[in-house]
Amino acid sequence: MSGHSDHPSFEDICTHWGEDPERYLGSVVPPIFQNSLFSAPNVDIRSRKTGRYIYTREANPTTDILNAKLAALEGAEEARCFASGMAAISAALMSQLRNGDHVVCVRHVYYPARTLLQDYLKRFGVEVSFVRGTDVEDFEQALRPNTRVFYLESPTSINLWLQPIEAVCALARERGVITIIDNTWATPIFQRPVQMGVDIVVHSASKYLGGHSDVLAGVVCTSRRHIEAIHREMSLIGGILDPFAGWLVLRGLRTLPTRLRQHQQNAMQVAQWLCEHPAVHNVLYPGLPSHPQHELARCQMSGFSGLFSFTLKRNSREAAVSVVDALKVFRIGVSWGGYESLALPMLIEDYDGQQRWGLRVHIGLEQPESLISDLERALRHAEDKGH
Ligand SMILES: *Cc1c(COP(=O)(O)O)cnc(C)c1O
Repeated sequence: MSGHSDHPSFEDICTHWGEDPERYLGSVVPPIFQNSLFSAPNVDIRSRKTGRYIYTREANPTTDILNAKLAALEGAEEARCFASGMAAISAALMSQLRNGDHVVCVRHVYYPARTLLQDYLKRFGVEVSFVRGTDVEDFEQALRPNTRVFYLESPTSINLWLQPIEAVCALARERGVITIIDNTWATPIFQRPVQMGVDIVVHSASKYLGGHSDVLAGVVCTSRRHIEAIHREMSLIGGILDPFAGWLVLRGLRTLPTRLRQHQQNAMQVAQWLCEHPAVHNVLYPGLPSHPQHELARCQMSGFSGLFSFTLKRNSREAAVSVVDALKVFRIGVSWGGYESLALPMLIEDYDGQQRWGLRVHIGLEQPESLISDLERALRHAEDKGH
């Protein structure tokens, strides 16, 4: 992005853009409007037409600053924040789906999103087909007359497979299908789905957008055409973001471009080191030229974040667990996108369709040399134990 005022840079958006300290007594950081309601001095000006705030479930000034910044980062017209990534995902899906509709979904999507589609929304008469999603033909073959939504996540967060976003959106437009993408892995810093034709972008802001593992949040970014339906989900189902949590995401956002550059650099260094390690079978990181979709990744992303997987030559759960248990700098835990490095043992479907045991790692902001020596020791420890 250039630094022109009509196209503010990511850095500008994450810092001063959309803020007016003079409205808040010169406060350099916007205040937290931690109030449920907004009062008025007389009945006449209480109406929404006057542009005043009424009730925090509908709108709140702290959250509105965040909404505007996230929409601008995604190049979307509008955004609404939610209490979690799942609240954002369910609002996006429920805003589009009715009884009898069909969804085509990538099969390695974030697991609760998959459960929402195949178990929960089934109760409301929604059908779903899961596809590999690495080629546009996967979506084309799954199309039915009642297909309403293509649900994407690119790359997926365990085996790091990509969907060809532009081609899938072209097909969707031709067939009157709405596209939704989970852009949590890349963030808008590295991938701009709206520019590739996606209708609705969702994020777990609990990951990189918040960036410090201290807040749960989600966001839906979309056009004016769809925002009314999203807003309706927000105010009727009520999964709104608390203003204090919104303020924490605003604080995390300040350093988003800076953090992402460092996550990328650290992850690349660790991934390249792992590629050379004799105990490692395969490293699944779209930033590596050895990734089968590296060319597509370079076309549709401008960078690569810090979450990836690698599989082990000693293909067993015990081997993966013993490597993870031997790590000392990496912490063992779900989630990712904070400052800290994390690892989990995982059964991972490789691009060739083989299931192999390995590790999913999030590469944090520690010194990459410390992470590499931690991995080196843990991999040696597992070899010594004979797993
Ligand atoms: C964590 C995650 C979510 C869900 O976000 P929550 O904030 O935990 O509800 C959705 N998608 C992806 C890819 C995630 O990693």
